Amino acid sequence: MSFAASVLTLYPEMFPGALGLSLAGRALETGTWSLEAIQIRDFASDKHRTVDDKPAGGGAGMVMRADVLAKAIDHASPPGDPRPRLLMSPRGKPLTQARVRVLAAGPGAVILCGRFEGVDQRLIEVRGLEEVSIGDFILSGGEPAALVLLDAVVRLLPGVMGNAVSGEEESFENGLLEHPHYTRPQEFEGRPIPEVLISGNHKKIAEWRRAEAEKLTRERRPDLPGIQPLAK
Ligand code: SAH
Repeated sequence: MSFAASVLTLYPEMFPGALGLSLAGRALETGTWSLEAIQIRDFASDKHRTVDDKPAGGGAGMVMRADVLAKAIDHASPPGDPRPRLLMSPRGKPLTQARVRVLAAGPGAVILCGRFEGVDQRLIEVRGLEEVSIGDFILSGGEPAALVLLDAVVRLLPGVMGNAVSGEEESFENGLLEHPHYTRPQEFEGRPIPEVLISGNHKKIAEWRRAEAEKLTRERRPDLPGIQPLAK
């Protein structure tokens, strides 16, 4: 069973975009996952195909209409569709590797991309949308955020990454940032590769990597769960 993504957007041309290339693109071609980009405007009912309107209560910008979005969602995700319904939103829960893993293990996702000031609150409540943020900054639309989320999910699908082990050692997988990497040449601008890495002693190498990962995480991301507070 492959991972099925349905993306609701005013810019279906943005998909698959970067996900049509490299590992994700190959996996899309071979059917490891599927992607359907649905034009929200097709569900507008007036002759101008209006999808937004002025915010109730006044203020700048426009808001995406609940009625039009509900029709688009019901088309993409009829009752009984087991896939989670996500709304890309800076107000959402920040996306984590743990959430990405759960999504990748599931049947797919229905992803709504906001534009303008966002979407009518009633739509979020009535259609049970899970708001997902990709970070504390504002994009002009949800499309790049959806591409980011799908990239993170697709690389975890079975068979997409050549070397599965490399996924397990990655940053965040064990609550730590990853250790530094080195490759040839042996010496670069006067700097040699750390000696332990060319020692051939696998136990020493594993210990060194673990210590480096902990040091880096302590310096940069003491909030990550792999870091225990230092004993007093
Ligand atoms: N007025 C809103 C921002 C709207 S930005 C606010 O202040 O919260 C327009 C759209 O871009 C949003 O509806 C959302 O779909 C998308 N977007 C912007 N920043 C995002 C982020 N950090 N993560 C996920 N989606 C984001």
